[in-house]
Amino acid sequence: MSAPVVTRFAPSPTGYLHIGGARTALFNWLFARGRGGKFLLRIEDTDRARSTPEATEAILQGLSWLGLDWDGEPISQFARADRHAEVAHQLLAEGKAYKCFSTQEEITAFRDAARAGGKSTLFRSPWRDADPATHPDAPFVIRIKAPQDGATVIRDRVQGDVTIRNDQLDDMVLLRSDGTPVYMLAVVVDDHDMGVTHVIRGDDHLNNAARQMMIYDAMGWDIPVWAHIPLIHGPDGKKLSKRHGALGAEEYQKMGYPAAGMRNYLARLGWSHGDDEFFTDAQAREWFNLDGIGKSPARFDLKKLENLSGQHIAAADDAALRQELEAYLAASGQPALKTAQADDLERAMYCLKDRARSFPELIEKAHFILTQRPITPDEKAAKALDTVSRGILSELTPQLQSASWSRNDLEAALNAFAEARGTKFGKLAGPLRAALAGRSVTPSVFDMMLLLGREETLARLADAAEDRGA
Ligand code: GLU
Repeated sequence: MSAPVVTRFAPSPTGYLHIGGARTALFNWLFARGRGGKFLLRIEDTDRARSTPEATEAILQGLSWLGLDWDGEPISQFARADRHAEVAHQLLAEGKAYKCFSTQEEITAFRDAARAGGKSTLFRSPWRDADPATHPDAPFVIRIKAPQDGATVIRDRVQGDVTIRNDQLDDMVLLRSDGTPVYMLAVVVDDHDMGVTHVIRGDDHLNNAARQMMIYDAMGWDIPVWAHIPLIHGPDGKKLSKRHGALGAEEYQKMGYPAAGMRNYLARLGWSHGDDEFFTDAQAREWFNLDGIGKSPARFDLKKLENLSGQHIAAADDAALRQELEAYLAASGQPALKTAQADDLERAMYCLKDRARSFPELIEKAHFILTQRPITPDEKAAKALDTVSRGILSELTPQLQSASWSRNDLEAALNAFAEARGTKFGKLAGPLRAALAGRSVTPSVFDMMLLLGREETLARLADAAEDRGA
């Protein structure tokens, strides 16, 4: 039996959770969750100047909104500095690393001379093979003894085999002269200690993998499966940047996209399963694999996100949608719904959720149930309430007084009324929408009537007929 899968997401807390990070987290989450494995979270906060608690909070919130739950407590990389240093000292003790006393000036002089002589500027420390008896009592860094000939091959599950000539690798510093570990060491030690079996991350880290491999080899540790995924590009094919609009995952929550739609969309950014575009979480977990990750950068496409979001809204459970919509209102700083309004909304959900691509669109369609008399029609609806239409509504209202309030009877009553006036029901729909909702995009007239009930419906029709709108 193969070892249980352990993946991780390792963001640097220097800003919000950006779309690329969210996608990386999702891929790791799907991979682990689909295999009964663990998904861990490590906050790479070793850069003290740039890391902030606010950024950590924003990242955790972004992940929570996306529903990407992690196992155990998030791990702080900075808090593990002693362990990272311990590994550097172990390598030193084993002769796989050495103390280097070269000063910055000496290194610069070495590079200048190499450049002048047309040689490689990779620093070659004179201390690599020095006898410890010759060590001065001076500050030093600990460097790893990098392999000097041959090649390092990274077996990447997305990029294939990537070969780097070892004469292009220098003796990387592991521990600085103040005793602090470098980032590259911290990543390897943490991934090892956390039992990470698969590292799925952006291909901007592919070059790091060669250097990280030196540490794995020196420690005799198993190398995790690496999958370096191409970055996300904007619709214009250029690297995704601020210029392309919203970059933070939480901004998509504020724009009113449901988390399930966002997950589906992000999963399709660089990964595919045949021609499937729309899928559920359960399907994504079952289908997600490293073979489906493409080699070329995915393009961000808002239309596709909207489309998938609409499908997820339509497929969602009414009570869950209500909850998510209320969370959207809070996240986007809008007033909360009163309980009675939210209850009404949930009752109406069955006829609201089709064809709404986001929560703002759903709320727009729900206007009829959320608003109160007297209704102010918007500009377009107001046009449907001209004198002729108001006349029609005032004739219709008494006829509805005696109709039984069922879909069949209402349909029959309205059709009979239209027929008697020598017109079609379709001609009545505009004024009815305007009167009942004050909007032109609404659920069907019958759904609105049934949900509003006889009394409220008739009152709204009478208001419109008499032009009592606010
Ligand atoms: N902290 C790195 C980043 O935010 C990720 C490092 C890794 O995944 O190995 O890009």
